Amino acid sequence: MEHKKFQILLIDKNKVYHQIFFKSLSSKNIAVIAVCSTDEAIPLIASNKVDFICCAYQLDETNGIEFCKLLRKKYINAFKPFVLLTSSNEIKNLSTALTNGVTDVFKRADIEELLAFIKRFPNNHLSLTGKVLYIEDDKTQQNIVKKMLESYGLSVNCFRFAEDAWGNFLNNDYDLVITDIILAGGVSGLVLCNRIKRTIGQKGDIPILAVTAFDDKIRRLEFFHLGINDYLIKPLIEEDLIFRIRSMLQQQEITKNAQEKEISALIYNNASDAMFVVDSQDKIIATNPAFSQITGYSGAEAFGQSPVFLSANAQDKDSYHYVWQHLSNTKAFKGEVFSTHKNGETIIQNLSVKSLKSSDLDSQYKVAIFTDITEKKRIEAQLLQQANFDELTNLPNRRLFKEYLALELNKNNRDKTSLVVLFLDLDHFKDVNDTRGHDIGDLLLAAIAKRIQHCVRNSDTVARIGGDEFAIILPNLVHKNKAEIIAENILLALNKPFILANNHASHQIVISMSIGIAIAPEDSNNLADLIKFADQAMYKAKNNGRNQFCYFTKSMQETALYKQALLKDLQHAIKHQEFELYYQPIINLKTKAVDHAEALIRWHHPTLGFITPDKFIPLAEESGLILAIGNWVFEQAATTAKYWTENFNDNFKISINKSPVQFHSKSQTTQWLDYLKQINLSGKQLIIELTEGILLENNNSNMNKLDKYRQCGIALSIDDFGTGYSSLSYLQKFHVDLLKIDKCFINSLYTKKSDLILSEAIIAMAHKLGIIVIAEGVETQKQYARLEQLNCDYVQGYFIAKPLKQKDFEQLFFK
Ligand code: C2E
Ligand code: CA
Ligand code: CA
Repeated sequence: MEHKKFQILLIDKNKVYHQIFFKSLSSKNIAVIAVCSTDEAIPLIASNKVDFICCAYQLDETNGIEFCKLLRKKYINAFKPFVLLTSSNEIKNLSTALTNGVTDVFKRADIEELLAFIKRFPNNHLSLTGKVLYIEDDKTQQNIVKKMLESYGLSVNCFRFAEDAWGNFLNNDYDLVITDIILAGGVSGLVLCNRIKRTIGQKGDIPILAVTAFDDKIRRLEFFHLGINDYLIKPLIEEDLIFRIRSMLQQQEITKNAQEKEISALIYNNASDAMFVVDSQDKIIATNPAFSQITGYSGAEAFGQSPVFLSANAQDKDSYHYVWQHLSNTKAFKGEVFSTHKNGETIIQNLSVKSLKSSDLDSQYKVAIFTDITEKKRIEAQLLQQANFDELTNLPNRRLFKEYLALELNKNNRDKTSLVVLFLDLDHFKDVNDTRGHDIGDLLLAAIAKRIQHCVRNSDTVARIGGDEFAIILPNLVHKNKAEIIAENILLALNKPFILANNHASHQIVISMSIGIAIAPEDSNNLADLIKFADQAMYKAKNNGRNQFCYFTKSMQETALYKQALLKDLQHAIKHQEFELYYQPIINLKTKAVDHAEALIRWHHPTLGFITPDKFIPLAEESGLILAIGNWVFEQAATTAKYWTENFNDNFKISINKSPVQFHSKSQTTQWLDYLKQINLSGKQLIIELTEGILLENNNSNMNKLDKYRQCGIALSIDDFGTGYSSLSYLQKFHVDLLKIDKCFINSLYTKKSDLILSEAIIAMAHKLGIIVIAEGVETQKQYARLEQLNCDYVQGYFIAKPLKQKDFEQLFFK
C-alpha cells in the first residue's frame, strides 16, 4: 500500500539550492517544499505535512542545530529525519549536532551524497503490518510514538509498566516489542526483555527493539547478551524508527518463511508416508525417502516415470491407471489402490493425490502421499475371517450363518421357493472329549464338518454354530422333502466310524447326531423364529432317541415318522413274505384273447394291512430297497410266466415294471438275464415297462442295457406314454416294441376332445413305426368301444379286470 507522496522540506535561504532540490528530487513519489526561514517551516511540520527535513546550518534567525533541538522538544510531529547542510568547517563538533537530534550532516559540496541518502527514504514510507507491544513510561512520548506507528498501519498496545506489559505479552501474539529500558516501577525494561527472550520456543523468537537514553558500550553488550535485536537512542527519529521496525519485521518474516520451508522439508524427508510429485506431463519429479522404503524404487529409478509404473505387476493393475485417469478430470483422489514393490510383492496403498499450482511457476503439479496398508489389510482380512469363520472347521460361524440366513430368507421371499434350516447336534459328544481327549474331539469335529459338506450342494451353507452344533441352510428348494433326504444322508454318512489319530494313538469313533428341520415360509419367514424352531425340532429328535431328524411342523413330522416306520418295515417285508405279485389282464382287441398281463406288486403289511405300490415304491426307490424288491418281482413274474406258458398258453407274456432307479443299477440287468437262464425261460415271455425318461437320457449305457434285453427276446414297453416328453423319433431309435397310452388320456377320452385326438394320433403313428399300442386304465364299455374303433391293439383296465392274485387270474382266464 502506497503512502501519501513523500514530502521533503528544505529550509535554506539560498534559493539556488531550492532549484537543485526541485530538479533532482521531484518525482512520482517525492514532492519538495522549499522555504527560506524556520517561521515558514514550523507550521508545515506541525501540520504533519512533512516527512523529511533538510535544513541549512546557516539561517538568519538561528542555526540548524538549535532549530532541530527546538523541534524535537516542542512539536508533536517533530521526529522526522532532520538533515543538516553545512558549508565546510561550519560545525566544529559533529557530536553536538547528533546529540541534539540531527539525523545526519552533509556538506553542501557532497550534495550528490545527500540526494542519494534522501532517495532512500520514501520506501520507508510504505505501510507496515504487525502487532507491536510498546512500553514507555513517559505518557507524552508514548502517545506520540503510538500515533506515529499507527499511521503506518501497525497495531500498537502501550504499557507504562513492565509488569503489566509482561502479563499482556503472555496472552497475546506480538510481532515486535519496543521497550524503553529505564521504566518507572520495580521491573526494568532489561528484565522484561530477558523474560520475553526466554519464551522463545513457546512463542517463537519475537524481535525486541530497545530504546535507551544512554548509549554506552556496557549497555550495548548487555543488549547483545539478552538477545535484543536492535536499539535506538533517544530522541527517537521517525524515519529511523520505522526503518528499524521495517527491517526487523522483514527479518522476522524471512525467518518465519525459512522456518516453514525447513519444517516442510523436514516433514518431506522424515515422514513415514511416502510422497512423490509429478509434473504436468505426469512424470515423477520428486520422491521422498519413505517412497523408496515402501516401493523399493530409488528416487533415481522413479524419476521421469509415469506413476503407473508403480502398479506394473499389481494384482489389480487397473486401479492405478484408473486413479491417474480419473485425476485428469478431477483435482484430487483419495482411496486404496494396488501397486507392486520392486521385488514383485503386492502393496496396498492408501493413496491421496492432490493437484497443486506452483506459486512461482505457472505449471500444474500433483502431489501424492501414500502409506503402505498391506499389513493392515491382511490383519483386517484375518480379523474378518476370525470374526466370521470357525477356526477348527473353516466353516462360517454363528454370526455369519445368521447373516447368510437373513440374505437367503430375503431372496426366498422373492423367489417363492422353500428354504430349509437344519440344526444338527452331535449325540453324546461330551463323552468323546472326556474319554479321548480334546484334541481327538477337535479332529472329530473337523472330520464331521467334511462329511456334512459332502452331503449338500455347493449353494447350501454349512456352519458351525457352537461346540458340537452345526447348522445348514438349504435355499431354493423346489421339493421340500429334499431336506429330508439330505438329513438322512448326513445321518448315514455319520454312521460310518471315524478313524482319527493324534500323537499317541489312533482312535475309532462312532458317533451320531440329531437333526431339527424348519422350513420357510411354512414354519416362519422370520429369522429368529426359524432358528428357534429348527432348534426345538432338534431337541425333539434328541427326545425321540437321537440319531434321527425331526421336523418342526407337525404334519411334516407325522409324514416323516410314518415314512420312517414304513421304511423300517419295508426292509423286512421280503424276508417275511409280505409281498404278493398280482396280475392284471391285458386283452388283445383283435382276438379278444387275454394273452398278456402286467405284474403289479402288493404289500400285506402285518398291522397296516394292504398297502398300494404308489405308497411304498417311491420310498423303496429313495432308500435303494427297490433293487431287492425288484429282483423278487422279476423272479416271481418269470416263474409265473414259465408256469403259465407251460400249462395254459405258450404265447403268454407278462410285463414287469422297472423304475429308473432299477434301470440305472449296474447289476440288475445281468442278474435278471442270469435268472432266465437258470429257470430256462425264453425272454419272449417277458416285457419290460420303462418310463419315457429313460429314452430322454439318451446315453450309451442305457442303449447297451436295452440291447441286452432285446438280444434275449425281452420286449420293451414304454409306460405312461404321453405324460413325459419323448417323441416318436425316440421310440424308433430305441426300438421300442410297445407303448402304453397313459390312463389320464383314456379317462378323458370322452370329455376332452384333445385327448381323443391325441390317442388317435398316437395309435396311428405308433402303427406306422411298427409299435404295438396298449391303452391303460380302461374302465368303461364306451372307452373300450372307442379304442376298438381307433384300432388300438390292447386294452388294460378295471373294465376287463382289476389286478388279480395268481390263482384268481388262472381261474378267470385259463380255465
Ligand atoms: P403302472 O405301471 O401305471 O400300473 C398301472 C396301475 O394302474 C396299477 O396301479 C393298476 O392297478 C392301475 N390300474 C389298472 N387299471 C386301472 C383302471 O382301470 N383304473 C385305474 N384308476 N387304475 C387302474 P398299482 O398296482 O397301484 O401300481 C401303481 C404303480 O406302482 C404302477 O403304475 C407302477 O408304476 C408301480 N408298480 C407296481 N408294481 C411295481 C413293481 O413290481 N415294480 C415297480 N418298479 N413298480 C411297480
Ligand atoms: Ca406299468
Ligand atoms: Ca402305467
